[in-house]
Formats: sequence, C-alpha cells, structure tokens
Amino acid sequence: MTEGTTTDKKFSRVLLKLSGEALMGEQDYGLDPAKLEIIAKQVQSVTRLGVQVCVVIGGGNIFRGISGAAKGLERGTADYMGMLATVMNALALQGALEALGTHTRVQSAIPMDTVCEPYIRRRADRHMAKGRVVIFAAGTGNPYFTTDTAAALRAVEMGCDAMFKGTQVDGVYSADPKTDKDAIRYDRLSYTEVLSRDLRVMDASAIALARENNIPILVFSLHNPGAFADVVGRKGTYTIINGEG
Ligand code: UDP
Repeated sequence: MTEGTTTDKKFSRVLLKLSGEALMGEQDYGLDPAKLEIIAKQVQSVTRLGVQVCVVIGGGNIFRGISGAAKGLERGTADYMGMLATVMNALALQGALEALGTHTRVQSAIPMDTVCEPYIRRRADRHMAKGRVVIFAAGTGNPYFTTDTAAALRAVEMGCDAMFKGTQVDGVYSADPKTDKDAIRYDRLSYTEVLSRDLRVMDASAIALARENNIPILVFSLHNPGAFADVVGRKGTYTIINGEG
C-alpha cells in the first residue's frame, strides 16, 4: 500500500485492538459479560460485511506488568503474568463470539496447547481467509512489550489493510477530553505528529511499526453501538493516523 491511497481504500482485512479495560464496563476489575456481548456483536457485524477480522486483546483489566513490578515482582515475571491475563480475555471474547454463532480461533504467542492454538502466522492467515475471527493472545510473547505493539506487529504480519483501536473516546484529542474542556479532536494525524506531540494514543513502538509499514490506524469509540462497522465503512467519527499530514 502506498502513502496517499489509504484514505479511500475499501478494507478487506482489518485488525481490532481492544484494551483489557474495554471489557470491564463500569467495574474496577475483570470482565463484564454485558460489555463482552456488545463488543462481540460489533466484531460480528464487521464480519457480516465480508471483512476479515483479527483481534489483539490487552490485559489491563486483570494485570499489568508495570504495576506488578512496582509491588516488588521482577518485571519479567510480572509481564508474563500480564500476558497470561490477555489469554483469559481472549478466551472470554471467544466465548462471547461463539455464543453469537461467529467462528473463532484463539492463538497465543506463548504456546499452551491444551487451551488454544499456538501463534502460527500462516495458520492464522488461513483461518481468516475462511472467515474465522482470529484472536491473538499473549501479546508479542515477550516481556517489556505491550499489546499495542503486538497489535501493530500482527497487523503487519497478517497483511491487514488497517488497524482499528477501540477506545473510550471517539478519536485522538490534544488532551484528555474527560478532564480538559478545551481539548480538540483531530480528524487526521500523521504518525510523526502523534510521536512528536506525544499524543499517547498507542505506544511509540506501535506507531513506529505502523509508520514503517504504512498501516493506517483508525481510533474510534467503542461506546457507540455499531461504531466498529461504521468506521470500517468510513462513516461516523474517528481519527485516522496515516502517512498524510
Ligand atoms: N505484556 C507483555 N508483552 C507483550 C504484551 C503484553 O509483557 O507483548 C504484558 C505487560 O505486562 C502488560 C500486560 O501484558 O502490562 C497487559 O497488556 P497491556 O498493558 O498492553 O494491556 P491493555 O492496556 O491493552 O489492556
């Protein structure tokens, strides 16, 4: 894909990045089944458009390596615990999707054969070509990384046309719109602007990887039902981050 063509291209294969927090609803911790069902329906509606979907899921609703390390755990150990949390979320999302009749596979970057498939790129590609939703668990499989970086990596590996980041707000703002009434929302940003203004929508390493491989990132709110399908169809409100300024 060349720079400048991403704005009007129709998407045929996409990656959705969900943070663990998206699954916990109003709770402080863990999983909210109602929230899971809403998200599963959003994913299903995109598959019904004939678009192939894979998902990278975070674990922050259960465990974050950095907070474990702050409490005295060795960082590497804490990060592995964080990766295991993402596997729990992946299984929960799989359950919610399968309950709706959508076929899925979970692939973990840390092999755990009795629980799910190991990550095998070509196998994941085949699942997606057959219309199955592939949920990638355990991030990159390495400590000191995050699931944002895992999302960019898998999007590149799977040849996705774009990466969609579902958040609590409808795009990227200059400041937190929940606390700053003067915060402005951007319709479009370049990768370099996101990095140089330190906008923190995703990790710098994820943005850099997307920039290097020219994968657009579309940031939207998961709160609006049908938002994922809308944004895939280039409707509704979102911020697009790509090579164009
Ligand atoms: N993690 C990791 N390597 C990875 C991805 C995740 O070590 O490639 C660990 C890290 O400890 C992180 C936790 O898993 O804090 C949960 O992931 P993340 O914080 O990205 O989840 P999110 O914020 O998206 O819920």
